[in-house]
Parts: sequence; C-alpha cells; structure tokens
Amino acid sequence: MLTDIEIAQAAKLQPINEIADKIGIKPEELEQYGHYKAKLNLQNRKNDPMKGKLILVTSINPTPAGEGKSTVTVGLGDGLSRLGKNAMIALREPSLGPVMGVKGGATGGGYSQVVPMDDINLHFTGDFHALTSAHNTLAAVIDNHIYQGNALNIDPRRMIWKRVLDINDRALRHTIIGLGSPTSGVPREDGFDITVASELMAILTLSNDLSDLKARIKRIVIGYTYDREPVTVDQLGVAGALTVLLKDAIKPNLVQTLAHTPVVVHGGPFANIAQGTNSVQATRAALQLADYAITEGGFGADLGGEKFLDIKTPILGKTPDTIVIVATIRALKLHGGKPLAELDNEDVAALEAGLANLGKHIQSMQRYNVPVVVAINQFTADTDVEIATVQEYTKQFGVEAVLANVWANGGEGAEDLARAVVASVENTGEFKPLYAPEDELMTKMEKIVTEIYGGKDVELDAKAKTQLKRFQKLGWDKLPVVMAKTQYSLTDNAKQLGAPKDFTIHVREFIPKLGAGFIVAMTGNVLTMPGLPADPAANHIDIDENGTIVGLF
Ligand code: ADP
Repeated sequence: MLTDIEIAQAAKLQPINEIADKIGIKPEELEQYGHYKAKLNLQNRKNDPMKGKLILVTSINPTPAGEGKSTVTVGLGDGLSRLGKNAMIALREPSLGPVMGVKGGATGGGYSQVVPMDDINLHFTGDFHALTSAHNTLAAVIDNHIYQGNALNIDPRRMIWKRVLDINDRALRHTIIGLGSPTSGVPREDGFDITVASELMAILTLSNDLSDLKARIKRIVIGYTYDREPVTVDQLGVAGALTVLLKDAIKPNLVQTLAHTPVVVHGGPFANIAQGTNSVQATRAALQLADYAITEGGFGADLGGEKFLDIKTPILGKTPDTIVIVATIRALKLHGGKPLAELDNEDVAALEAGLANLGKHIQSMQRYNVPVVVAINQFTADTDVEIATVQEYTKQFGVEAVLANVWANGGEGAEDLARAVVASVENTGEFKPLYAPEDELMTKMEKIVTEIYGGKDVELDAKAKTQLKRFQKLGWDKLPVVMAKTQYSLTDNAKQLGAPKDFTIHVREFIPKLGAGFIVAMTGNVLTMPGLPADPAANHIDIDENGTIVGLF
C-alpha cells in the first residue's frame, strides 16, 4: 500500500481555474496562488441564498487508533460527486504543530485526500503566518505601551493576551519577557499558545466580512488595568493595522480532492481548546455554490460537534440537515478496554463494551433534532461479524450505520454512505438548540455537561468562581461558552474511555474572548500549547534533491 503522500504525489490535478469554473466562480473572484491553489474573493456574494444541504461530519471520542473524520469527509464529498450530485467540501486548514508532532496532516488519507496535500499541510497560502504575525504584533504593541509610560494603566500581572506560534513547543508555555536592560521593556510573566488557539483564529473563522473582522478585533480584551477594568484593542488603537495584516487570510482557499471535487479550506481552530470548525465564510460559500456542503466539527461530537451547533450555526444562519458520526471498529474496541496493540484481532465482546461511546454521541446529536447517520470507516482488519455488530447496535436509535471504504477506494467506497446521506437530509426537522442566548454561563455549561457529555454537574475552582462574579458585573455572564476539554474522553480525564456516567467537570479558569464573542472554560488539565511526543513526525520527514517530500504521512 502506498503512503498518503505517495498517493497524493501520483495524482493528476486539474488547474484550479477549471475547478472554480465548474462551480461558477468568476475569473475576477479567483486569486490564484500557483496552479492548484486560489483564494476566493466572495464580497459580492455575501447575500446570495444558501441553497445547499449542510452535512456535518463528526465522530466518537478519538483514540490513538484513529477515526479518519477528514478521510470520511473527503470520501463522502467524492461519493456524492460520483452519484452526480453537485457537492463541495469545507474543511479546516492544518496546523503545523500536529504535522510535525504526532497526528500528521489534516487533508484526509489513502484515496480520499485533498491536494496538493504537502502545500496544504505546510505553509499553504500563508493564512496561519498572517494570523501569527497579527497576534504577535498586538503583543508587541501592548508591551511597548507599558514601556512607553502605560497611559492605559495596564496591570502586567493581569494580562490575557499571550504570544503565539504554530509549533508544538512545550518550553514556551511559561516565559519571562522584558529582561536585559531598561530599554528592553518591562519584565513580566508571559507565555505562548499555539496559533490555532489564538482569539484571532476564532475571530477570523467567525467573521462575516472585513468590517465584522475589524469590529471584533476592536472588542478583544487583552487584560485588565490596576483598577481591574478590562482593556480593549480599540483603546490601544491598532484594530486597523491588525485587520490589514489579515486582509488576505480572511479569504477562503479553494483546492480539490483527488477526484477533483471542489474543497474550500479555511481557518483552523482546534476543537479541544477553541471552537473547532472551519470559517463561516467558507461553509457559507459551499452552501451557496453547491447542492451539498460537507463540513467537519473537529475531534468528537462532544467537542467540535457541540461547538458547531451552539457557536457556529447561529452566526452561519443555517443548521445541519444531517450529522454523520464517524466510528471505527478499532477505536470502539479500545473504548471497550482492548489494548492498542491487539486491535487487529476480532473481539466482539470488547466492541460491544465500547459501543456505548458511539451510542452517547448519537443521542447527543439527535438531541438537536437533526438526523444522524453513522459511517463505519473501514480498516482492513475489520471482520464481517464486527461490522454487523455495529450495524445492529445503531438500530435501537433509529440510525443506519453505513460501511465506508473510503481510505482504500475513495469516492467509490462512499457511494452507500452518500446514498444514505441524500435520503437522510430529506428528514430534517426543526432544529432544537441546546441553550437559549439569555441563559447564564453556568446554565450553559451544565446543559453541555449533562446533555452532551452525560455527566452530572460542573464544579468551579476558586479562581473560576471569582472570575464568574467579575463577569456578572461586566455583563459577560450570558455569552456562549467554549469548553476546553480533552478530546479523548467524555469527561475531563483523558483516561476515562467508553461512556462514563455521573461525573463532574472541573473548570479551573475562564478565558474571556470578547472579540470572538465567547468565554472559554478551561477544564481538567487541557493545554493551549501542546508539546512534541518522544518520536515526533519531524524525525521522519525529509526532502530529496528534486524537491520530493517523504514522511509527511
Ligand atoms: P481525523 O480527521 O479523525 O483526525 P484523518 O482523516 O486525518 O483523521 O486520518 C488520520 C490518519 O488515519 C490518516 O493518516 C489516514 O490516512 C489514516 N486513516 C484514515 N482512515 C483509514 C482507514 N480506513 N484505514 C487506514 N488508515 C486510515
């Protein structure tokens, strides 16, 4: 079997203007970055109707065994195209952190990939560099403001705005800056987050257009004064400069699958520490240009799924017509207690024990009154009896579990799944939101924990309790909430697999993101700057004298 990158390198791509032409993009709306990538300038289409059906792909709690959400998303798009449907895929941009770290790329796998995969996984059209530069420009402006006399009375001990890098660099989680001499700034404690956790990333993905982007940047709270009053970017006067740095990053990127289905790839917040979905603009474009728009909510349905439904859809103005939950038999066996090294062996008992995790996610998504289809992402070791076990199990929820052999067979392997989705989107009912906008922060969190995670309650640490009181005074206590939680478990403890019940979620602190328009609740010990593993992917990536890359999965 060829590796992902070997398959991608062997592909014959269509020029990007031909892909754009197929979906009715005018030449003046297309800004080409070489032959196979382009930015879309869709300013004049903002008010076009969203005629397409929206399909949200999410999954069970991920495990080291791999779920293949992006692979299924891409395969499903190609499968719909094979059925003669006008389909478009809307995905997130990969972060370099995981590309060089543990996970590999985010462009699908096997014969269900988005190309050019090496470009997309590396620097692509520079969006993340622009975001990193804009974010760190603001950090430099803040420290310079303090150094130049601190007219705004900013308390360096109460800073929210950190610095960012799109690299997994554990050594930068906590830093001291401003050391050296009086002209090197005012010393203070600082730290770095990964770029995908930046509030600017959240803002970029939620903005409707350039003016919305600028208005949101103005509202960012960077920290507090010595009198504990919030300080905004508007007060610092640099919203214009930051928006200028993002003027191209705000435009969605157009690429294609191996089978030439159009794909918009735009924005990339992680789903464990941020809102986990691609940009509102890109999803909207796919819904305007195609009859079927397939998009992804990162990690499991408890993270990216919930955030898509509660944070993104109110801004997008469209709710999903079907939710596809991806599961693998390997991962379900792991949830059922089987060791990682033995997942290739048939084990119906472990599978049956692990199915509760899938069942919980089906129920959580059905709670929104959106039809659900389960996609079994087929691995070569899956046995007929194991596949039948999953298919039998989902019947109790009135849900079909469809086998998708997308990794080995591309769109052809997704035709059954595509047919199931085409039938399913006709059954959409009235969307039932999880919480009302006017619900208190605490109520919102409790609803997420009890109805989506299956837990019993939320407990606030002392710091979070104090913050909540401040938020009430500042009028921030009714904002939507983004739970920052481990992706591996429904609980805040990565080791608790399956479908635990009656657990408590511990919130240690809140991070207000006023520009993005939500409050992040940090639970358990989730980190906003990941580290590299013992054997990072970077150890295996290389390039030869002809520029051919190996090891990029
Ligand atoms: P996710 O979106 O859930 O993080 P991806 O779709 O990015 O997962 O897939 C992760 C990795 O798993 C990719 O390298 C991909 O090639 C591999 N993979 C996905 N599905 C399969 C499969 N059915 N068989 C073998 N490998 C797979």
